[in-house]
Amino acid sequence: MASAPGSRTAGGRRSGPIEAWRAARPFLGASSRDLVVLVVVSALAGFAEAGVLLLIVRSALVVTGSDGTADVVLGPLDLSGMSVATLLWVAAGLLAFVIAARFWGSRLIATVSARALTQSRESVFRAFMGASWDVQSEERSGHLQDIMSTNLERVALVSLQVATGLAAAFQFGALLVSGVVIDPLAAAAILLMVVALFFVFRPVSGMARRAARASVDAKRDLTHGIAEAVSMAEEIRAFDVGDAVVAQVEAASADVSSLHRRSKFLAKVLPALYQNAALLVILAGLLAVHAAGVEDVAGLGAVVLMLVRALTYSQVVQVSHQAVADLVPYLDEAREEQARYEAAAVDRTGDPLEGIERLTFRGVTYSYDGDVAALRSVDLDVARGEAVGIVGPSGSGKSTFMQVLLRLRSPQEGEMLVNGRPAEDFALGGWSERVAFVPQEGRLFSGTIRDNVRFHRPWLTDEEIGDALERAHVAGEVAGFPRGWDTHAGERGGGAVSGGQRQRLCIARALAGRPDVLVLDEPTSALDMRSESLIRDTLLALKGEVTMFVIAHRLSTLSVCDRLVVLEKGVVTAVGPTDEVMATNPFLVDAVRLARR
Ligand code: ADP
Ligand code: MG
Repeated sequence: MASAPGSRTAGGRRSGPIEAWRAARPFLGASSRDLVVLVVVSALAGFAEAGVLLLIVRSALVVTGSDGTADVVLGPLDLSGMSVATLLWVAAGLLAFVIAARFWGSRLIATVSARALTQSRESVFRAFMGASWDVQSEERSGHLQDIMSTNLERVALVSLQVATGLAAAFQFGALLVSGVVIDPLAAAAILLMVVALFFVFRPVSGMARRAARASVDAKRDLTHGIAEAVSMAEEIRAFDVGDAVVAQVEAASADVSSLHRRSKFLAKVLPALYQNAALLVILAGLLAVHAAGVEDVAGLGAVVLMLVRALTYSQVVQVSHQAVADLVPYLDEAREEQARYEAAAVDRTGDPLEGIERLTFRGVTYSYDGDVAALRSVDLDVARGEAVGIVGPSGSGKSTFMQVLLRLRSPQEGEMLVNGRPAEDFALGGWSERVAFVPQEGRLFSGTIRDNVRFHRPWLTDEEIGDALERAHVAGEVAGFPRGWDTHAGERGGGAVSGGQRQRLCIARALAGRPDVLVLDEPTSALDMRSESLIRDTLLALKGEVTMFVIAHRLSTLSVCDRLVVLEKGVVTAVGPTDEVMATNPFLVDAVRLARR
């Protein structure tokens, strides 16, 4: 099983609150205003809550007769000499505010989280779509889907937790400040011990985090193993090695299970321990205050209540932080992937391209690994309307050549000139309109035939689509479909579209934008003889109208071409008129001989 990319982020990096915030920050940028409102509302709610607690204790003391005077001062509000009923009404008012603030806060938290999810999805997907073909083509199957679902759902969760934690932190702060104002000594003693408590719990949080990370990686390995088993099902059956694969997956699953148990246990036990330790701290604090001797009983009572509440909030902060810390690896990975895509962003700027009269390859060299050249010093000059066949054994660089032509890859040495100017001078958008592509196995997406030919180019008119179907020699067959152009051509074709028709629809798709150059990478290799001959007719009819580059193995398809280029190990070994090259080039002579056998 291949090691998952998640492990890159799983190094034993520390993630304290600052680290967690740093990881979450990029996903919260758009929510700064909401977060500010949230903390202000939370702080106000905290003060209001402190007021409620103080008023309750005072009222209770008045009611029980322990204290005759109700001398209450709430910040700027002097409530001295008020009746118990009035005090309770004020408390009820404050409580109503606390409830409203909670309601508002919850809405803000939900908004922040939902926004983080949509925006991160959008930006990651946009970054991927804007990345170079190098990066896109190397993408492990399912990887982006994984990032988009698993990782980004965690981004939403983290945003939720960060917002929740922030709100709780400010409520905690407000209660603490209130406590300090009322009885500095008691508040200070308790606070000191809470801080001590935090440091006692640090090592345990560290263990929980490491376990969570290991569990993330193991889960990814397992998913990958299962995906691999599904995609290789045919081979696994044919070799009858199902049991071995099951054993492998079972082992991975056992790993996941034990790591899951460990990380969940630590995640559960931590808050429980903390809660009880916090009560212990309050007891100890009270003992300390008691030993120091206290006169203001009402104040002390209120402070204790405030600190008990404050501890609840501090626990929320702790839990939120823990949750965020657990999810930091997912965030980091999502961000790293986005950065990787963005770093490979394609430069789309350049001059508009009016038309392609001449294409020239001059010493074009391309290597995938910087070592072995897939194309080596390729020279070729093609005039408008020519049909050029590219032949050569498998792995000789034909597809690479096409990808350079499509500007999916840029040569490391040499250059491609269009009308005598470097191709890079022209904007990519214009290039893609002028140079159209038909892949080896054209794919249709789920949508109608019309949608498929239009292919996300809303400016193409129905007339242009009809014309393209006509030129691709598939219009008649499409008209014969039950719903014509509106026939659904789902991924599997729904049985309606045959392989040969699909390939001609892909040619129609390429032709619809009225390109100057048509690039076909083995358009007939997956087809039967009859479909192949239909495609050949299509290509013959297009000859002269558009410049064509056709990679082909079938000699009959090649016979459409004016000229042939033979590529071997990335080097052009022959160029010339089709008949001539067919008759003299050893590779083709051999191919002709094999075809006749
Ligand atoms: P052809 O289309 O003639 O079969 P390709 O252009 O696909 O040949 O491949 C040319 C060479 O480049 C081969 O040696 C192939 O292994 C290598 N190659 C092709 N694609 C990649 C890639 N994405 N990464 C690394 N090497 C590649
Ligand atoms: Mg190829």
